[in-house]
Amino acid sequence: MTRRLWSDFVSELEPYVPGEQPRVDNLVKLNTNENPYGPSPQVAEAIKTELGDELRLYPPPNADRLKQAIADYHKVDVKQVFVGNGSDEVLAHAFNGLFRHGKPLLFPDITYSFYPVYCGLYEIEERKIPLTDDFEITVDDYLVPNGGIIFPNPNAPTGRLLPLDSIASLLRRNRDSVVCVDEAYIDFGGDSAIALVEEFDNLLVIQTLSKSRSLAGLRLGFAIGHPELIEALERIKNSFNSYPVSRLAIAGGVAAFADEDYFQQTCEAVIASRVTLVEALERLDFEVIPSAANFALARHPDYSGEYLMSALRERNIIVRHFGAARIEQFLRITVGTPQQIALLLAALEEIIV
Ligand SMILES: *Cc1c(COP(=O)(O)O)cnc(C)c1O
Repeated sequence: MTRRLWSDFVSELEPYVPGEQPRVDNLVKLNTNENPYGPSPQVAEAIKTELGDELRLYPPPNADRLKQAIADYHKVDVKQVFVGNGSDEVLAHAFNGLFRHGKPLLFPDITYSFYPVYCGLYEIEERKIPLTDDFEITVDDYLVPNGGIIFPNPNAPTGRLLPLDSIASLLRRNRDSVVCVDEAYIDFGGDSAIALVEEFDNLLVIQTLSKSRSLAGLRLGFAIGHPELIEALERIKNSFNSYPVSRLAIAGGVAAFADEDYFQQTCEAVIASRVTLVEALERLDFEVIPSAANFALARHPDYSGEYLMSALRERNIIVRHFGAARIEQFLRITVGTPQQIALLLAALEEIIV
């Protein structure tokens, strides 16, 4: 095609590059932080029940059942809940609806790489605030004029957790713009900032069912915050796609929140495996950043991240390597099952001589 049909805007976008999803047998897939355990069996049951004639009908536009299940679970009012197709969509609406103020959005220099992509899409100026040498967030560095603040907690891809009292302190001293805490990994070892939503009307907490509830393939995420923040997200959603969450996703999501035992057991299993993984990596001389998530960021003093990633790949094990500044020596390894971790460690012992 020789004619130029793209707008300049599209030509200049720098889209997000997701971790790969190869279809290879016996692959040990530790690259995209999915849960190694399947979703609660009750989720599949609920989806099966939903499969029928009703699929000819649009889903309820407000996903009321799912919102109510989330509100009940987190003990908030349903007016404080927004749901979307994965937290990436919820984040998109938050950027579009809450961060376009002509002032920079603040986020850590090492963080979820979708944030700069959304800044490009929604033409938001960004200002990256450096983490410390140990990859910690320094709250005081965020007390500068801003059109919003966002960070994952635990941070990704570092895994480091910012304690709740530091988040409260940031909120207390930054009342005039929205602070968004992206809690994709909070269930693996932290206290949710949802506890602060009543106190701070400028706090938006975003969570996903992709990680701790093993439903990455169903695409469900949600936000909890002051009803006025939620209303902004609803206004964006209803100007974009007013039926975002499918009937199957609503049914599966409700079932996921109902099976608390399964949720607790699988989270505990992942946390126990993280401990095993970190200890074993340290025995192999890796430096491991303390993680409260379902992954670990680690580097070896003698082997580059890129080399280790390729050597593992030759052995059918995939982990994530980021070319970005400050973390190019690191591997981000998703916590798998005990068996997957054993395979990873056996491979590393072979590679590291
Ligand atoms: C995985 C992840 C998300 C996106 O999850 P969805 O699958 O879109 O719900 C959002 N933020 C962070 C930091 C993540 O790691």
